[in-house]
Amino acid sequence: MTPTETVTFLRYLSSLFPTFTWQPDTPAAWHNAGLHKVTPRDAKAASLALATRAAFVSLDKLLAEVTRIRDERLAAHQVPAPNTDDPSEYRQQLLSSIAAAADGLHIDTPRALPAGQRRIGPPPIAWQQARGISPSESQARAIECPWPPCQAQPNSSCVNGIGRPLARSHEARHHLAAQLAG
Ligand SMILES: [Zn+2]
Repeated sequence: MTPTETVTFLRYLSSLFPTFTWQPDTPAAWHNAGLHKVTPRDAKAASLALATRAAFVSLDKLLAEVTRIRDERLAAHQVPAPNTDDPSEYRQQLLSSIAAAADGLHIDTPRALPAGQRRIGPPPIAWQQARGISPSESQARAIECPWPPCQAQPNSSCVNGIGRPLARSHEARHHLAAQLAG
């Protein structure tokens, strides 16, 4: 966003968070420290999400929420394969598709196959192996994560402190799964 948009956004933020007070140099500081990289739309979405669960707002919380929202959009959207054989064009197309998906600007394309019956339970072993998920990792994912800050549900990935999925489940989950397996 531009410096002017930052000022507009900070006014919006102080209406959401009555505790949020700003000094004359706050807009410039917030703009330079990160808001210049954020679109007004993402900043608004992040501040609305924060307002539902926190009474205070800080720049680092806001930026973390923007990242989370963009990651969520990316996870929900399949980025189309670039339509070229030229390596640099391929890279360019891929990067702009990813950016568009994270911005939430992608156009949904119809699925090639019907959705079919919803699968219940963990993904098949062959599916997990094809994605490089080890047998011990799938065993861990079959149970709820006992690590209190995480508590990922069965068949969901463990998440880190800002809610991003982890490739490897928490040690406590592996440990418990191994114990349960005997
Ligand atoms: Zn976990």
